Amino acid sequence: MSDSTGSVLVVNSGSSSIKYQLVDPTTGEARASGIVERIGEAAGSVRHEVGDAVTQRELPVPDHGVGLRIVLGLFDEVGPSLADAHVVAVGHRVVQGGPRFSGPVLVDAEVERQIDELSPLAPLHNPPNLTGIRVARELLPDVPHVAVFDTAFFHDLPAAAATYAIDRDVAAAYQVRRYGAHGTSHQYVSREVAAFLGRPLEDTNTIVLHLGNGASASAVRGGHAVDTSMGLTPLEGLVMGTRSGDIDPAVLIHLQRNAGMSVDEIDDLLNRRSGLKGMSGENDLRAVHQLAADGDEHARTALEVYTHRIKKYVGAYAAVLGRVDAIAFTAGVGENDDQVRAGALEGLAPLGIELDAERNAGRKKAPTIISTDASRTTVVVLPTNEELAIARQAVEVAGAS
Ligand code: AMP
Repeated sequence: MSDSTGSVLVVNSGSSSIKYQLVDPTTGEARASGIVERIGEAAGSVRHEVGDAVTQRELPVPDHGVGLRIVLGLFDEVGPSLADAHVVAVGHRVVQGGPRFSGPVLVDAEVERQIDELSPLAPLHNPPNLTGIRVARELLPDVPHVAVFDTAFFHDLPAAAATYAIDRDVAAAYQVRRYGAHGTSHQYVSREVAAFLGRPLEDTNTIVLHLGNGASASAVRGGHAVDTSMGLTPLEGLVMGTRSGDIDPAVLIHLQRNAGMSVDEIDDLLNRRSGLKGMSGENDLRAVHQLAADGDEHARTALEVYTHRIKKYVGAYAAVLGRVDAIAFTAGVGENDDQVRAGALEGLAPLGIELDAERNAGRKKAPTIISTDASRTTVVVLPTNEELAIARQAVEVAGAS
């Protein structure tokens, strides 16, 4: 492959994994993708996919540097050759850009330092994101590296939405505000929805429902986010696979005082033992549906809590936006689960939101309108593509550098 547009290597580095994709930023084609898993454990694995061809290696991966070296080796060995693919940039997903980053930036030592400095706001994510950046810059020194922040789309939220109603000195001292997350997806989907519906972005109000293992909602007016459900961290808002979403903060105080739970135990409870998993024992919605179909009451309740929470946000964001032109469902659940989509919007006809049961049925691999022709708000399933969104932003920044 030696066309002039080139490719972008998109890297998402987690604490024990590195996900990557070689993307054509023009066509969106994924030329290769893969994942290194269980980094630092006794037995690791690497999976590299090119079209339908899968190369799987089971081997210890002691650290991220070794992991990325193995990946680059696989590109050499099974292809596509990175030299031939003409890699014009490496795009790195970074979860927390804090008050500092309102858009993607070219990585240099100062940017690395700032990402590191933001770690207290995202202790599980920013440190491994930064490790990924450091090893990638070492191994691919001749290509521009661009950091794309999950929070950037929400950087300019109106104060009314971004501010927590606590003592302003405490908030300022500890940088406590709503930063949001999944911003790359919300931005991509809100733009694609307007294009898909043939509407000018500036005149389109959209509620985006990103429902994956993590889940978040946003209200987007004319291409700008005006509210979002995730907060200081990706814990607030919708019910998720293992995260509670919204909860009375007094529950934490109650558990600390009366159950003797430590801060770390409460952190573990809310982030890893809550959500669908906490209520039903399963974090994957397919398994929760199965349990519910088998008559499990906890699973039924979990589904009700899950869809009720989405509905509450739709109502809230309809009020924030005033006029809702589109509602977009995206990510693993949003694209695949017609029962959740139907449950979340059930009874909203008085708000001008009416699903068409036939159009809604089944999984959607491409943008699809699922509302009735009479529905004032057009409801759409719009598959997200965070890798493509990161690749496009990386090209923009790298091209301008
Ligand atoms: P994501 O984080 O976007 O990759 O979404 C992952 C989640 O999507 C999984 O945990 C499942 O709960 C959900 N999911 C994936 N496929 C389906 C499906 N066919 N039906 C319902 N939920 C699905």
